Amino acid sequence: SAELDESVLAGLDPEQRLVATTVGGPVAVIAGAGTGKTRAITHRIVHAVLTGQQRAGAILAVTFTTRAAGEMRARLRSLGAPRVQARTFHSAALRQLRYFWPRVTGAELPEIAGSTYGLVAEAASRERLRSADTALVRDLAGEIGWAKSTNVLPADYPVLAARAGRAVAGADPETVARVAAEYERVKSRRGVMDYDDILLCAVALMHEHPEVAQEFRSGYRHFVVDEYQDVSPLQHAMLTQWLGEGRDLCVVGDPDQAIHSFAGADPRFLTGFAREFPGATVLRLDRNYRSTPQIIGVANDLLHPPGRAAVGRGVVLRPMRPEGPAVGTAECADEDEEASRLSAWLVDRHRAGAPWSQMAVLYRVNAQSPAVEAALAQARVPYQVRGAERFYERAEIRAALTGLRAAAGSDPQTPALEASDRVLGSLGWAPEPPAGQGRVRERWESWQALHDLVADLVEAGAATMAQAVAGLEQRVADQQAPVADGVTLSTLHSAKGLEWDAVALIGVQEGLLPFSLARSPREIAEERRLLYVGITRARHDLRLSWATGATGRRGRRRPSRFLGGLAGTGERADRAAEPAPGPRRRRVVHCVVCGGALGRAVEIKLGHHAECEVPFDEGLLERLKAWRLGVAKRQSVPAFVVFTDATLM
Ligand code: ATP
Ligand code: MG
Repeated sequence: SAELDESVLAGLDPEQRLVATTVGGPVAVIAGAGTGKTRAITHRIVHAVLTGQQRAGAILAVTFTTRAAGEMRARLRSLGAPRVQARTFHSAALRQLRYFWPRVTGAELPEIAGSTYGLVAEAASRERLRSADTALVRDLAGEIGWAKSTNVLPADYPVLAARAGRAVAGADPETVARVAAEYERVKSRRGVMDYDDILLCAVALMHEHPEVAQEFRSGYRHFVVDEYQDVSPLQHAMLTQWLGEGRDLCVVGDPDQAIHSFAGADPRFLTGFAREFPGATVLRLDRNYRSTPQIIGVANDLLHPPGRAAVGRGVVLRPMRPEGPAVGTAECADEDEEASRLSAWLVDRHRAGAPWSQMAVLYRVNAQSPAVEAALAQARVPYQVRGAERFYERAEIRAALTGLRAAAGSDPQTPALEASDRVLGSLGWAPEPPAGQGRVRERWESWQALHDLVADLVEAGAATMAQAVAGLEQRVADQQAPVADGVTLSTLHSAKGLEWDAVALIGVQEGLLPFSLARSPREIAEERRLLYVGITRARHDLRLSWATGATGRRGRRRPSRFLGGLAGTGERADRAAEPAPGPRRRRVVHCVVCGGALGRAVEIKLGHHAECEVPFDEGLLERLKAWRLGVAKRQSVPAFVVFTDATLM
């Protein structure tokens, strides 16, 4: 009925509504950051179920992380479609294998290895590599993972890896290929499978057993995939098998947020969707509900520079939120100055009312965190490091500290820098970085940061080893226990899909953004998208900083080439965040549907398309509560309230 229709579609803008009501496939939604992609497809599913167009049990929603799948399930449940399956590629394929494998093979499904680390280490030791070297093993595991998700066999690895421009610091291509082949043998001897095998087996099972394929396809008929720019060739093959002759596939993604090519993702499956599925409907979402126009201006200029050819392949974002402060920029002499000015900025934001947990510091590589951690510890700013250990908790740093303490203990009076270089050298550090990327390279960066720290302490007057170690101990002691309500420190990669009120991007300079190892135009383009992902995480305050001084091992640095021409980044000084000039002060309330903080109240009557604007008052809030209660009790309610932004109208 019209009423039902309206209840599911309320809270969606016209383009999002079109996504939600374009039932049946093939559909591709190309949408920008913060445009409500996830929201639009969730409502699409619920709409199809509640209007009786699709059976809940026949829909499979696919995401890339367990966290995203969990969030999708929660949203589906709260919107009234709890029986729809929302899973990662792996978990959907595993469920399928558990069901069909015993029937087809007559045997139990092999055990799934929770972690491949031990298996890769065993393969490495059989190939006479240093299997106790955790960084090396992790680099090997990463390469094996890339090869499997891009359908590259071990024998073809050296050629295809070179063609893909891959270079890991941990091992040369021939060695990786040998370990990859041995790894497969180790697994079969142990009778275990890894995560990629789940997909490989499910694809093969459907390919070789048409009756299995048919049975699966008669169960699931409608497929929805979020973040489709991240799909790998192997996942794409899985999807192709699931679909068979069917065409009901809806994918949503942002080609401008494709930052996982190193792990095997290929955004061309998204951009080439209409070629793969002739007659496909391609829809676009470009209204951004997350960030201020100032932030969106910078994001757009990065990918769609005015007067020049667009670099981005996605949409030009339209800001929906009210005006905010100007985007801040800061040019600093070196990393330490950058870190201390950053921490002053965070403290300033905090005094202005932003909770610590609503702020983030984003950087290109984990090795950039020690300078920030030291400055934050000194300013007593609580923080947490996302997806990595804090500097002094990293295994390589703990080992180095143990060595340095021992050196100071045995000869407290020894010119500190030489002794510390000897200790670091005995662990595997050398003045020159190992070629290529990966964990081995990251570990070197950590040691190098420790080396620089000792050099700083020496410069500040610590002549002997005992004095230098005392300085280090002080830094270790300054670190606070990890906290939940702290500023988030994260690499740009780990920040994808998240949002904060205030975001500071550090190291926006040549050598870091783009990273020194990115050389080809394709790699440079991915670095630019990383910066784009970082910028679009900010809701209200955004600050970009870089260090250009001649000091430091990275030599004379220049601001990132990506900064050229960005709106509002021309002026290289900290600018105090001005309060929003916006319209009259409005009471900020939270939208019932999206949870976002918004300004104006709109009442939507069920069954009516007309939206009537009503002034915000306490009575409205009461009606809102009643509506929520009504939904919870599954009562029918005559009307409900959505708080939307003034600029929406
Ligand atoms: P990302 O590109 O980071 O993955 P996304 O496109 O998936 O983002 P969502 O996370 O679904 O976007 O939504 C971004 C923010 O905008 C959320 O806070 C969401 O609640 C809000 N939002 C989305 N659509 C609307 C709308 N029509 N009205 C108000 N707020 C909205
Ligand atoms: Mg999303």
